[in-house]
Amino acid sequence: MEELRFSGKNTTVYFDADFSLLEEKLKSDSVIYITDENVFNSHREKFFAKKVVVIKPGEKFKNQETANYIIDQLIPLDADRGSFIVGVGGGVVTDITGFVASIYMRGVKFGFVPTSILAMVDASVGGKNGIDIGVYKNLVGVINHPAFILYDYSFLKTLPDGEWISGFAEIIKHSCIRDREMFHELQKFSIKKFQSSATDTAGIIERNVHIKYNVVANDEFEKGDRKLLNFGHTIGHAIENTTRLAHGKAISIGMHVACKISEVINHFDTSQTKLVTDLLQQYQLPVAFDFDKEETWKILLHDKKKTGSDMNFIVLDSIGQASVKKIPLTQLHNIFKSIE
Ligand code: NAD
Repeated sequence: MEELRFSGKNTTVYFDADFSLLEEKLKSDSVIYITDENVFNSHREKFFAKKVVVIKPGEKFKNQETANYIIDQLIPLDADRGSFIVGVGGGVVTDITGFVASIYMRGVKFGFVPTSILAMVDASVGGKNGIDIGVYKNLVGVINHPAFILYDYSFLKTLPDGEWISGFAEIIKHSCIRDREMFHELQKFSIKKFQSSATDTAGIIERNVHIKYNVVANDEFEKGDRKLLNFGHTIGHAIENTTRLAHGKAISIGMHVACKISEVINHFDTSQTKLVTDLLQQYQLPVAFDFDKEETWKILLHDKKKTGSDMNFIVLDSIGQASVKKIPLTQLHNIFKSIE
């Protein structure tokens, strides 16, 4: 057990724990679980005799309608200010659970049991919760930390291969912005190797939780370093919206483009770009895709990180170190158009 300390609230983390630990810890009959159909159907036994709200799976359901649906279910389940809401699932479930729990009755207690690699290393840590509005990802939300995050790695046995791959995009991102040593360790592994070693998987997950926590704890409200976590995401999110490509894949292409932009803006060496793209491909992630650049650019212009005629863009200084650069939009657009 470990405490992640944030300004207003702490999060207790249970690494390598069993889901059943919650029954002992929460000791309340007003615990309500929120999960999605895939996680529920793959782990029915874990939800036996529990109050559960099951939502449709996938990003396209991280929206107001699903939030309303959850609230409509919470009322007949007698959820009140004393209730504890637990999101069990990938990042979609944890994001929407944190959001609904923060607004239901002006806020009730909540915790997460992340079940995808991405939710374990990224979405469940840091307190950002929210929903998408149309094509705009996470446009509406709150910053509010869960009371706990419980890691039960047995959930990963049913995680589809594609979701493992997606999750490793964020792990590679963490290595690029913060941990050169981890980057070199990842070069010695593969998805298959991690899938066949629970110890290595647990180790890499804990390491990444600590990376994300350290970045967030130093800059909870995204005034500085937290922005670095957006490496590959400004363009990645726009690609995700225009192509409906999976999050991790879109982010992977976004990281490749961000490396190319770093070459022009930040003297990032081309040989380093090659190391990053080789590692992404080693983890079965794409670095190129035939997407509509002008459509993607339009979406990108609506990105929250745009300020006036410039955009705050995350570039790499070297592998393991990133920085924020204010880039004139016209220059960024020209570089973006020229990237193969
Ligand atoms: P997801 O929740 O859609 O899960 C991916 C798929 O895997 C879904 O179909 C889900 O049903 C399935 N799944 C999850 N765990 C499973 C398991 N153990 N067994 C079988 N199937 C399982 O997506 P994700 O990739 O986990 O998360 C992406 C979301 O996270 C995005 O909405 C993104 O915006 C958000 N996110 C949030 C933050 C944050 O700081 N809050 C950070 C990064 C990403």
